[in-house]
Amino acid sequence: MAYLTLKNINKIYPNGFHAVHDFNLEIQKGEFIVFVGPSGCGKSTTLRMIAGLEDISNGDFLIDGARANEWGPRERQIAMVFQSYALYPQMTVFDNIAFGLTLQGVDEDVIEEKVKKTAAILGLTDYLDRLPRALSGGQRQRVAIGRAIIRKVGVFLMDEPLSNLDAKQRVTMRSEIAQIHRQTGATTIYVTHDQTEAMTLADRIVVMKDGYIQQVGTPKDLYYDPVNVFVAGFIGEPPMNFIRGTVKGGKIPFGKNSLDVAKKLGAKASKYEGKQIVFGFRPEAIVLGAQPNAHQITAEVELTEMLGDNTNVYITSGEDKAILKVDPHDTPETDTSIVFSIPAEEVYLFDGETENVIK
Ligand code: ATP
Repeated sequence: MAYLTLKNINKIYPNGFHAVHDFNLEIQKGEFIVFVGPSGCGKSTTLRMIAGLEDISNGDFLIDGARANEWGPRERQIAMVFQSYALYPQMTVFDNIAFGLTLQGVDEDVIEEKVKKTAAILGLTDYLDRLPRALSGGQRQRVAIGRAIIRKVGVFLMDEPLSNLDAKQRVTMRSEIAQIHRQTGATTIYVTHDQTEAMTLADRIVVMKDGYIQQVGTPKDLYYDPVNVFVAGFIGEPPMNFIRGTVKGGKIPFGKNSLDVAKKLGAKASKYEGKQIVFGFRPEAIVLGAQPNAHQITAEVELTEMLGDNTNVYITSGEDKAILKVDPHDTPETDTSIVFSIPAEEVYLFDGETENVIK
C-alpha cells in the first residue's frame, strides 16, 4: 500500500479560483518526489494541502491508508522546510534545532544526543553555539533542515528550500539534500521550479501546469518519453527544439530544408496530411555533418556560446531557429553555413492541435 495517497484532490480558493484540478498520486514510503512547474501552477498549494496548512476542497488524502483530510498538521507527522528559513534569531543553532523537541518536553540528554547527531549529518557540529546571523545562507538553510529532520516524522516537505541561496550554494545544498535523504530514508516531497533540481533529486517527478498534472515519472521517463510539448520543453537545458509546420506530401518545412515526417508517422501519415505537427529534437541529439538514417539540415550559425564542456550553437534557416549543443572543439564560426543531422530515432512528433506526443 502507498504511504501517501492523493485521490482526485482539488483546491478551490474562497475567491473561486480553481488552483488544483483532480490531482492523483500514490507515494511510496521513502520516495523522493519533486513537484515541478512554472510559477502559479499549483505546486505550493498541493504541498500545503498535504501539510494540513490548506483545506482540501474535494478529494481524499490518505496517510498509510487512513483518510487524513481533516487531520491537523501535527497529527499528520509531517515536517516542513520553507523558502524563508524562519529561524529564531535570538536562539543558537543548537536551540533552533532542538526547538521542536524542547516544546514536546523531551529529556535534555536525549535532546543533546539527537541535536549532535543531526548536526553531524548536516556538517553543523562546529556551529552549534552560533546565532543564525553569524551563519551563511547555506548554513542557515541546513539549520532549518535540521530542525525538521530531528523530529521523527513520516514525511518531509520542502518548498523551494534553495531559492534564497546563490548558484554555487544551491549546487552544494542540492547534493547535501540528496545525501540527507539517503541517510534518513524519509519520504520527501520537494517543490521547485528548477528542472535541474528536479532531475538530480527526484525518484519521481510530477510536472504541473495550470493546476493540472502533466506527467508523473522518473527523470529518465520524462527526458526520453515526454507525453506532450510542455513536458518535452520543460525538461532539458537548453530545451528541446520545436519546429511547427503543416504536413504536405509527408513533409514539413524547416527553413529551406524539408523534414520527412511520413516515415515516423507510419500508418498515421495520411491522418496528419494537411494538419499541423510539431517536430521536436533535443539540442544534444544532433550530429555535425551528414549522417545516414537522419534528417540532414543546412542552416546558418547566428551565435555560439562557449560554456566549457559544450558549446550552444544558435542556428537559423529562413524564419526557423534552433539551438544545437556541440563539443567545444567542433564550435563552428558565426555567419557560416553548416550541415547537421538529426538521427531518426531522436525525433519526437507532437500533434499540432493537442500538443500530445504522437506514438
Ligand atoms: P510559485 O512557484 O510561484 O510559488 P506555485 O506553483 O507554487 O507557484 P501556488 O502558490 O500553488 O503556485 O498557486 C497556484 C495558483 O493559486 C496561483 O494562480 C495563485 O495565484 C493562486 N492562489 C494561491 N493562493 C491563493 C489564495 N489564497 N486565494 C486565491 N488564489 C490563490
